[in-house]
Amino acid sequence: MTILLITAHIARDPGIDFGATEGRGIEAHRFRVGEDRGQLLDIHGDELPEDKARCFENFHARYNVQICPDYFEYNLSAMAAKDAEKKIEALREKIRHHEHLYYVLDNPAISDAEFDKLMQQLKDLESEHPTLVTPDSPTQRVGGKPREGFVKVRHSTPMLSLDNTYNEEELRGWERRVHELTGRKDVDYVCELKLDGMSLALIYEDGRLARGVTRGDGSVGEDVTLNVRTVRSIPLSIPKERLKKAGIPVDFEVRGELLMPTASFKRINEEREKNGLPTFANPRNFTAGTVRQLDANITAERRMDFFPYILLQNGRTYFDRHSKTLGALGDAGFKVNPNHKLVHSMDEVWSFIQGWEGKRESLPYEIDGIVVKVDRTALQDELGFTGKAPRWAIAYKYAARGGVTKLENIRWQTGRTGKLTPVAELVPIPIGGTTVRNATLHNMDEIRRLGVRIGDWVRVERGGDVIPKVVEVDKEHPRGDKDVEDPEKCQVCGNKVVRTEGEVDYRCVNANCPAKLLGTILHFASRGVMNIDGMGDALVTQLTERGLVKNVADIYKLTKADLLSLERFADKSAQNILNEIENSKQLPLERVIYGLGIRMVGERTAQFLAEHFGSMEALEQAGVEELQNVDEVGPRIAESIVEFFSIPANRKLVERLGQAGLAFKGKKRERGTKLAGKTFVLTGTLATYSRDEAKKMIEDAGGKVTGSVSKKTDYVVAGTDAGSKLDKAKELGVAVIDEQEMIRLVG
Ligand SMILES: [Zn+2]
Repeated sequence: MTILLITAHIARDPGIDFGATEGRGIEAHRFRVGEDRGQLLDIHGDELPEDKARCFENFHARYNVQICPDYFEYNLSAMAAKDAEKKIEALREKIRHHEHLYYVLDNPAISDAEFDKLMQQLKDLESEHPTLVTPDSPTQRVGGKPREGFVKVRHSTPMLSLDNTYNEEELRGWERRVHELTGRKDVDYVCELKLDGMSLALIYEDGRLARGVTRGDGSVGEDVTLNVRTVRSIPLSIPKERLKKAGIPVDFEVRGELLMPTASFKRINEEREKNGLPTFANPRNFTAGTVRQLDANITAERRMDFFPYILLQNGRTYFDRHSKTLGALGDAGFKVNPNHKLVHSMDEVWSFIQGWEGKRESLPYEIDGIVVKVDRTALQDELGFTGKAPRWAIAYKYAARGGVTKLENIRWQTGRTGKLTPVAELVPIPIGGTTVRNATLHNMDEIRRLGVRIGDWVRVERGGDVIPKVVEVDKEHPRGDKDVEDPEKCQVCGNKVVRTEGEVDYRCVNANCPAKLLGTILHFASRGVMNIDGMGDALVTQLTERGLVKNVADIYKLTKADLLSLERFADKSAQNILNEIENSKQLPLERVIYGLGIRMVGERTAQFLAEHFGSMEALEQAGVEELQNVDEVGPRIAESIVEFFSIPANRKLVERLGQAGLAFKGKKRERGTKLAGKTFVLTGTLATYSRDEAKKMIEDAGGKVTGSVSKKTDYVVAGTDAGSKLDKAKELGVAVIDEQEMIRLVG
């Protein structure tokens, strides 16, 4: 008997890292999954002999794993496992070392490319030797698939919040109580930055990260381990010798602050804005939203950071001084915030606080104050807790940089994506060295929450490099008398604006709106859309400024004379552009749909729409119901499409694109009718097929797969570990079937 190993990028459930099955008379072979996911090919792209294909099926069924569609291989050789193991461990050690230098110490010793190369070597080796993959391998930071919810976990000891003080007097008052309760005056304190993130508990067992838990209500939090693993400054495992050196036991709990650096926050918000998604108000909300992402891949993209400050064993503080805890955590390889200080008097505390007040803007993340803790654990124990906060620590909150001024008007500003943002026009006021004339109010919900009226005096704050915002109405002043009304028209083009059900933002959906013009044209001409090479920022700016292009259809009536009238255009370059424009007419229907810039219709949705409708005409006439039969199109996208085509200017634009000769017909994907009108929901892990495969099978048979169970659901297909969706199905009396039954239905 030969052991047959499957190596690959295996999308795995926690705990199933690899699989092995027996092969009989099958030679060593490398396999590949074809374009069509059900199809198995050998390495040359030929179809497999039947016995090999069957072996693959057996493996699938027996081990209940999903195989990534791109590539995997069988390896029959009785490989030199020992050698490989050594090599792999050495590589991991090296990678961990560089991860520590880069993410914890901010002091990389090798280039990103070199780091990536090490990582690739490890990935290759692990893929050759899947039995050697361990959960703490640096390759395993992102793994697993989106979950349906989070498990609640009780904290070893409550995670408390701190009491706040706002001035020196209150702080000295706190010190007095410390003196009274402990009966001594020689108390040491540790000052730390008050990071504006969210608290998180990390539980290590045998030196390995076992669990990451949010604060929750303080007593019970949520298990966010998979998300936490993607944070690079959090070690997945710490060598025992290293822990020993740091004086830390192998089983311990670390608590600290998870946060989003200001730069990541800005980058992601810009990206979301561009994609027509709602933006986050501040990095803290963003951090909370990110760590609770069900899909850990999203968390990984967001580059968060973790700073620890508490070390517990069995729920109790481990070291006899807080300053020792910070030192030991650093020695163990955690990213301890370097801006902390052990001091011996309240005067020193106060000068630490004052020193950082002016320097906060130089930090790459936001802080909102300073935390002061009694250094000795014995004194901490003596001081104990009030109902909800420790008496041995206090937060000093900085006053936000801001001022109070009069709000004279609110202007609705149309952005490139068509989103309308309310901007407060203020009586100019100096804040932190600059004169502030405008401040954002974010959206209509925020205006209602604050209860702002035009003519009110408002408090305006400015943090880091975030744009100034209105944070509250100052009620000491006489109130304004004019309510803020929802915008009706785009202030740039005068078109009616809309707000989709369930969304906060208003949008101008006029594709011809000048505010959106530049962005719309650049999108249309870009490589992934109509691929008009040479039509970049410089050219499009000139074309729009001169009024030669007022919408995307105008691109197709440009003449050589038009182009020659622009700066830096000669006969040849003008002709090149015209050729590019002409060539774009050959591109398929999905590109044209994508190019229209309909909100929430990205590349993939455009493709599904083209396949479903087969022509622009059919898409134009489709209603909300019909649109929802298209893959991945839910009510919001459907409404956005209907809305787009309901605007006469948009319909005219589409008509002109058709007259210009763009592809308005495509190839319709033929579908079965066996399951027509039936709606399915998939839950749990299926034995034979991946979710995507099962979805495709159902859809190819004419059925529809949705994400949540309702009365309209016909079948819930339940695999192993099915969660809340199964309960919901039972509650609503929806038919629950297993995988075999699903296969039978599909036929
Ligand atoms: Zn407009």
